[in-house]
Order: sequence, then structure tokens, then C-alpha cells
Amino acid sequence: MSSRQSQVHCSFVPPMVLEHLARASGTDTPDPGAAQRTAVVSQQLRGLRQSASPDLPSALTGVVQPRPGKGDRAIYDDQNTWEFDKELVRGEADPAVGAQNVNQAYDYSGAARDYYKTRHGRDSLDHNGMTVNVNVNFGVDFLNAFWDGIRLVLGNGDGQIFVDFAASPDVLGHEFSHGVVQFTANLEYWGQSGALNESFADVFGSLIEQDLKGEDFESANWLVGDEIMAPGLYGEALRSMAHPGTAYDNPLMGKDPQPDHMNGYYSGPEDNYGVHINSGIINRAFYLTAQELGTEGAGRIWYAGLQNLWPTAVFTDAAQVLSAQARILARDGVVERQATQVVRGAFRTVGVL
Ligand SMILES: [Zn+2]
Repeated sequence: MSSRQSQVHCSFVPPMVLEHLARASGTDTPDPGAAQRTAVVSQQLRGLRQSASPDLPSALTGVVQPRPGKGDRAIYDDQNTWEFDKELVRGEADPAVGAQNVNQAYDYSGAARDYYKTRHGRDSLDHNGMTVNVNVNFGVDFLNAFWDGIRLVLGNGDGQIFVDFAASPDVLGHEFSHGVVQFTANLEYWGQSGALNESFADVFGSLIEQDLKGEDFESANWLVGDEIMAPGLYGEALRSMAHPGTAYDNPLMGKDPQPDHMNGYYSGPEDNYGVHINSGIINRAFYLTAQELGTEGAGRIWYAGLQNLWPTAVFTDAAQVLSAQARILARDGVVERQATQVVRGAFRTVGVL
């Protein structure tokens, strides 16, 4: 299997941030160990689909087939081990439990599922009622969240850099949306197709959060991950969809490397050839579209685009497909008449067209 083939492990915190945290040293470094552990485990998980990994616990390599169902939620407590699905602690319609992160994972994964149902008529992750499996308390001070192909997995953070990843609706929305991408365009997780995959996860994660909070394109902050920053990094975020490259700038994390235009396109090998970096270009194209057509109209076009893209699609493919879907939706009166011109204009502004 080539390293360029689709990899299912889609993480929230990019590897370069974890590597920067692990390298940072000195008295202002809370716990470089947590960042190092997270970077190592994240690397192992990324490699899972590429090669047999005899060093990994069998729980990490086990394959569970998703079953058609009713889109019920199943929240598991991994009890700070590195094993998945350790103990089922809250199922669909079960009452709230004592642990706040379990209840947040339940509420926010429900918000993601309900957003797709209400806005797009989608039946859970796979449009076939797949169970929404969420794991909390994964690992020890794990500084990440990810979709592994069948479940959402959330770490606790270390309280110094990141707080519990269950605290953020856009984290749950982002990882849930990686699942939706897998069952639709199935964009390969490297290079431009991977950056599109990341961008769709950011776009719908943001729309899910806006829906939950009753925000729109004007009142939303368009930040991704702002709610999981620990108090010492207050005001920072992982990505800014409105102004890519401005989300963070501090000694612990380094500086946000996202370009907002093809002029700044990153073509090096880091981060699966820049999946969390170049996604900024497409995020900005969505933001610009939403400013003109509103969040709902832009979201409809992007969702329709996702149904019509394919695993190896690149940025220009996305621009063409999204413009074509805008034309069809405008013809049907679903979005404003000038939608195609707006989408093409946004992709021209960021240098893709
Ligand atoms: Zn992601």
C-alpha cells in the first residue's frame, strides 16, 4: 500500500503543532512529555493503514465493521488507557451521567448528527443510520482528537495547552464530518485531496457550531479549536477560516502556517503534504462564499459538492464541482441566482481559478 493512499486517521491537531510543543523546552513548558507521547501515538495511528504494526496493542489494529442502525449515540470511556471502546457509559436517550466530558461528547455528537439530518436530510455518518461511536478519556493527557474510520476519539488534553477535546462542538463536528467525507467523496488524506478533506471537516464543524449556538456568518468567529485552548493560551485557536495564518502565534505552538492564497501554497512533505496547512486556502474560499450567500446557502453548495467529488480531486476540481452545484441549486431556487459567480469569484480571490 502506498503512503499516498487514503489514510483514515484524521487528527484535529496537526503534527507540526505537536512537534513544536514536544520540542519546546524551558520553565514555561508545562509538560513536553504529553506532547511527545501524543506525537508518537498519533504517528503510530497514522501508520496503521500503511503497514502491520506489531508493536501496537491489538485494540488499535482491530477492525470492527459498522452496522446499519438508527444513528444512535454510544459514548465510551477509555479510562485513560490506549484501548478503544473500553466501557459503554452513555447510550442514546440515557440520562446524563456525572462526568462532564461524557455529557459534552453526547450533546455535541448529537448536534453534529442532527445538523446533517435537519439541514441535509442525512441519516448519520454513512446515511444508513450508522451508530455514532465516541470515545472519551483516550490515553494519558492525549493532546488530540481523531476519526479513525469508525469512531470519534477524544483525549483529555493536559490542561496546560489544551483542555478536554470534548469541550468543543467544533471538534466533535470536525471529526464527525471526517466520517461524512469518508462515506461520500472519500478524499485521500494527503496533498490537495487531503487539504480538501480537512477543509470540509472545518467547514461543517464550523456550521454545526453555528447552528448549535444560533450564530450566522456575521456573528460567528470562524475560529476552529478556540474552545479547547487552555487558559494560558486564551484567545488563540488552531485555525482561522476568515483569516488563515492568524490563528496562533506563541512560543509553545509556533506560528500558524496556513496560507490564505495559492501564492503561499505549501508543497513540502510535512503534515501529509500540508493537509492542515493548505486547507486554509479552501477554508477562506468558503468563508468568502458565506459572506455573500449566507451560511445556509454556502453550506448547501458545499454539501452538494461533497456528494460529487472523488478521492483524488484537487483544488481546481473542487472549484469546478462547487460552481456547477451552485448553478444547479440556483436553477432550482435553493440558493441565490448569482451563486455560481460568487463561488467562482471566491476561488479566484484565493488564486485557485
Ligand atoms: Zn481533521
